[in-house]
Amino acid sequence: MIPKHSPYGEGSDPNYTSNKDKQQEACGVFGIYAPEEDVAKLTYFGLYALQHRGQESAGIATFSGETVHLHKHMGLVPQVFNETILSQLTGSIAVGHVRYSTTGSSHLVNAQPVVVETRLGSLALAHNGNIVNTLELRQKLEQRNCNLLATTDSEMIAHAIASEVNSGKEWLEGAISAFSSCQGAFSLVIGTPTGLMGVRDPNGIRPLVIGILKNHPQRYVLASETCGLEIIGAEYLRDVEPGELVWITEAGLASFHWTPKPNRKLCIFEMIYFGRPDSVMEGESLYSYRMRLGRYLAQEAPADVDIVIGVPDSGIPAAIGFSQESGITYAEGLIKNRYVGRTFIQPTQKMRETGIRMKLNPLKDVLAGKRIAIVDDSIVRGNTSRLLVKALREAGAKEIHMRVSSPPVTHPCFYGIDTDSQDQLIAATKSTEEIEKHVGVDSLAYLSWKGMLQATGEDPNSFCSACFTGDYPIPVPEPLKRSKLMLEKLAI
Ligand code: AMP
Repeated sequence: MIPKHSPYGEGSDPNYTSNKDKQQEACGVFGIYAPEEDVAKLTYFGLYALQHRGQESAGIATFSGETVHLHKHMGLVPQVFNETILSQLTGSIAVGHVRYSTTGSSHLVNAQPVVVETRLGSLALAHNGNIVNTLELRQKLEQRNCNLLATTDSEMIAHAIASEVNSGKEWLEGAISAFSSCQGAFSLVIGTPTGLMGVRDPNGIRPLVIGILKNHPQRYVLASETCGLEIIGAEYLRDVEPGELVWITEAGLASFHWTPKPNRKLCIFEMIYFGRPDSVMEGESLYSYRMRLGRYLAQEAPADVDIVIGVPDSGIPAAIGFSQESGITYAEGLIKNRYVGRTFIQPTQKMRETGIRMKLNPLKDVLAGKRIAIVDDSIVRGNTSRLLVKALREAGAKEIHMRVSSPPVTHPCFYGIDTDSQDQLIAATKSTEEIEKHVGVDSLAYLSWKGMLQATGEDPNSFCSACFTGDYPIPVPEPLKRSKLMLEKLAI
């Protein structure tokens, strides 16, 4: 998959440095308990809808009594599975995962679900988020002689549960003691021979929702986002709460609040950028929230222009909101090639020189001679915007005013959206005026932090917005912090 960052395609622009292994996306998880259904196929479609959350590897584990069937591989969901493979994944419980590595490198060994043997049978775990106390956890597990194969925090959680179970505890008791030793972000779906578990960390940083199969009042589905429910015709029931564990068995759904002090801090970047626009968070579609961000942006930073355009796809709802609020015509100025996938064929030197755009192409007829407001959801490193602005100028735009529907990203994320180390984040080192120059626009303005949170209509304290403020709700251990923060520069 060509990183969303490069409108030219990976490696196709000499000025563009690939963000692979630097700026990566969260993962997607899915689970289902439904003995009378083809759980593997339903999981396949659930993952298909969650593909935007990770394109590196995909996997499904099913439980048929004590027997676990597992298939995982590098690639997109439809590349990893076919009818034959799915027909071998039999059972009544399934767990699925799409991954875009946030910890651990890009290898099959790190693909999920992670399957671990225990005294009570196998467990299959799918994780979205990042644990921050991995060093401590690894030491603890190594002391207990756990054989860690992969390099991920997710594998450590699976082994921590297995180790508790092997010391004599039952599934729930074992899982809860393991979670109590984990710090960080974890939305988990865990399959066992007897039941399916859904868990969120005490802050509920990453999302996780519960659905119910229509016509099957006792058959539950878990998914990172509601779009993973709708595709299989499941109805949204509610979110798994921060610090909650749901245990789904033949008897139905049981809920446990496993931590004494849950304190909701949903990642605001999920709402701004990561989640699919048709997914519902906080009671409305992300499309509606993003349109409202655009409206607020038009109020805070108006622009005297002829047309408003958005950066496809993630900037479009905010651009429409900006247009509605300002009364300025919305137009499509950039056309996206929806079929661009991962290509290992480098463009020719001539293509590079002439700036051939593989992913986004400007519409000259719309842009020529116009004063334009271009709206995007975020500027992270500033590369995308700079390249796009160059393309818009070449297409004849007279003036370009960039409007961004979130504040400047100044701090790295330690909780699962593996944004670049701080020196890669343009707003960490440059002022808005300097970024304006770097990107090459006539004016640049961001939505305020207050506006972004106010637009949620919720208590601003119930979100993690550390990437905009550096105010990390879960303490980050020094060695991990050091790896991404410019500590000396900030004199921390
Ligand atoms: P850049 O400023 O070049 O880093 O790119 C910003 C663009 O990338 C915006 O259009 C965002 O929609 C998108 N974006 C924001 N965060 C991420 C991320 N973590 N991974 C991939 N793309 C992102």
